[in-house]
Amino acid sequence: MNQGQCPVCDYGNVALNSSGALDQLYHYDCPRCGPFTITDYALIEIENIQEHFKIKLSAWIREKKEFKESPPKITSYTVKGEMENLPNYSVAEKLTKLLQVIKKRSGHLGDLVELTSETDFPVAWAENKDELFYLAKGLKRKGYLEPFDDTFTKTTCILTAEGIEHLEKQPHKESFGKINHRYIVGQANKCDTKISDGDNDGAITNARTLVEAVLNEILIKNGEDSHNFNGDLLKLYKRVQKILDLEPNNKDVDDTLNQYLRGLIGVVSGLSGLRNKMSDSHVQKVKPEKRHAKLTVDSAKTLAEFLFEEMIAMQDKVSSRT
Ligand SMILES: [Zn+2]
Repeated sequence: MNQGQCPVCDYGNVALNSSGALDQLYHYDCPRCGPFTITDYALIEIENIQEHFKIKLSAWIREKKEFKESPPKITSYTVKGEMENLPNYSVAEKLTKLLQVIKKRSGHLGDLVELTSETDFPVAWAENKDELFYLAKGLKRKGYLEPFDDTFTKTTCILTAEGIEHLEKQPHKESFGKINHRYIVGQANKCDTKISDGDNDGAITNARTLVEAVLNEILIKNGEDSHNFNGDLLKLYKRVQKILDLEPNNKDVDDTLNQYLRGLIGVVSGLSGLRNKMSDSHVQKVKPEKRHAKLTVDSAKTLAEFLFEEMIAMQDKVSSRT
């Protein structure tokens, strides 16, 4: 067991292990970010990313720990592709994030919960300890937390009944609600820019992220936990197919449409396969050509738009019934 500085948040003396002879992996257990694994290539790339992305990456890793998910693996793909898709939370969203973590930490009603300024600010997606204390103060003022003890380094509080009630009214923890037409067009434009810059890998990565984001949104809007799918695009799509009634054996629709619906499964498998073979990690097995990237991006765009429209149509149907 070694010690080193956390490459994401710069916290010092973090437990560090390495494994793998060729594909070198480093396992960190950072008191601030939580546990994560990072490839040697990603370690080099991460040095060049902007500070505010690192802060969000730290919060993203930490969220996995707080919600008892397995530690993430940071690859070149994460650093180059996914970073710009990390959410920008509003103050209201950060307050809810913080309250959710406090609820998770308090086993019983009335339990004391402690937040440590140096290491806990990522749980609220805060930039630093001052912002964490500011958010905690906000929750106390709203009556969601009862103050117990505040020192320079930590704040101790109790989640109130009002706080629990407020949380129960909130949508699912990751219901960003950020997927809309603008998001889809924005992501599609990013893909096109990458293709014209010759970054075919990056374009394919973004195309996949776009489809994954739309699929996640549909699941979450329907009260399901997208984490069960662990990034398996095809499984995710199969679930969404059921929700939106898009299985290609629908007797109520035209046979031609059923053919197209079958084709969409091919698009999804293509996207998940392409990402693994062409765009993920530093070991490039196949270098994608511009025409491959364009085919991938255009199919992903069509798929994402279609699914989004189907989701809206379904919501309209539901709301016209009530
Ligand atoms: Zn860290």
